[in-house]
Amino acid sequence: MKRRGLLKALAVGTAGLAAAMVRPHRGEAESGKKIRWKMVTTWPQNFPGLGTGANFLAKTIGELSGGRMEVKVFGANELVGPFEVFDAVSRGTAQMGHGAAYYWKGKDPACQFFAAVPFGLNAQEMNAWLYYGGGLDLWTELYGRFNMIPAAVGNTGVQMGGWFNKEINSINDLNGLKMRIPGLGGEVLKRAGGTPVNLPGGEIFSSLQSGAIDATEWVGPYNDLAFGLHKAAKIYYYPGWHEPGTTMEGMINRDAFKELPEDLQKIVLTACRVANLDMLSELTARNNAALATLVHEHKVDLRPFPQEVLKKLKEISDVVVAEIAGQDPFSKKVYESFNTFRDQAIHWHEVSEQAYLNARKS
Ligand code: CA
Repeated sequence: MKRRGLLKALAVGTAGLAAAMVRPHRGEAESGKKIRWKMVTTWPQNFPGLGTGANFLAKTIGELSGGRMEVKVFGANELVGPFEVFDAVSRGTAQMGHGAAYYWKGKDPACQFFAAVPFGLNAQEMNAWLYYGGGLDLWTELYGRFNMIPAAVGNTGVQMGGWFNKEINSINDLNGLKMRIPGLGGEVLKRAGGTPVNLPGGEIFSSLQSGAIDATEWVGPYNDLAFGLHKAAKIYYYPGWHEPGTTMEGMINRDAFKELPEDLQKIVLTACRVANLDMLSELTARNNAALATLVHEHKVDLRPFPQEVLKKLKEISDVVVAEIAGQDPFSKKVYESFNTFRDQAIHWHEVSEQAYLNARKS
C-alpha cells in the first residue's frame, strides 16, 4: 500500500512526492483555516529569473501544502522598499522575504559570505558549502540574531562582468569609474580608484542611460537583456569575477515559522531547496539563449577582462575579503569556514570540473 502510494507520487513528480510523504496535522486539516503569508522581495514584481524565482517558491509552498498555505509575493516598493526587505521580515511585517544577503552588509559584514565573494565559490560550490560544509549553520546562527531563518533560494551561476562604455585595458581604467556594483565587488572597485554605487535592479537602466553611472553589472545575459542594458552601454565584459555564483536568499520570520505545524515547516524549507535548484537551472538555460541574442541580434561587443586586470582584482579581493575577518569574531569564523572550503573546492575542481571543461573545449 505504502509502496504503491510512493510510486504513484513519483509518477506525478517532486511536488506530488513531497505532498504524499508529509502528512498534514489532523487539527490543521480539520480546522481548514488557510495560512496566509506575505513575501517581500528586492526585485521588481515578476522580474525574469529573480522575481519569478520568488513566485516559484510561493507557488511551490502552496502546491506542496495542498492549498493549506498561501504565500503572496510583493515586488520591490509594493509593500516595502527593496532594501527594507530584511527589516520587514525581521520585524514580522512580512513572514518571508527574497533577496540577496550582500545587501545587508550594514547589518553584519558576515552577511556577504552568504551571497557572493569575489573570486569565491561558484554555484555548485556554494550549495556544497551551505548544505554540507557548515555554511547554512553559520548563516542560521547569524540571522537568528535578527529573528529570522535563512535559506538558499536560487543561484545565478557565474555572472557577467558588466556593461561599460569604455574599454578596460588595465586596472587604471577603473580609476574614477562610477559603477553600480554591490557587496564586496564594490569595495574592490573602490580600492582600484572607482566609485561603487548600490542601486536596486529597477533603477539601473535609467541611471546608466542618463550617465548618473558610467558602468553597471547586473546578473547575466538573460536578466541583463530583460533590462535592456545593451541599449545604454556598448561593451559587455566577462567573467563576473565579483559574483561567481550568487546565492539568492529566502528569509523566514522565526516567530511565524514556529507557529506553523511541523509538516508545513518542512514544506516551506523543502520548497526553498526546490526553488534553489530551479533558478540555477532556468538561468543557465536562458543565459545560453540570451547571450546569442545579445551578440547576434544586438551586436553587443563581448569581451573578456584582460588577464592582468583580473590578476590585480584578485589581489585586491583577497585583501578586502580578509579584512572582513578582522571586523568581529563571528565574521572571522565565517571567513575561515568559507576559505577552508574554497581551498578544498579549488583542489577538487582542478581534477574534476575544470579538467573536464578544458578537455571538452580541446
Ligand atoms: Ca550582480
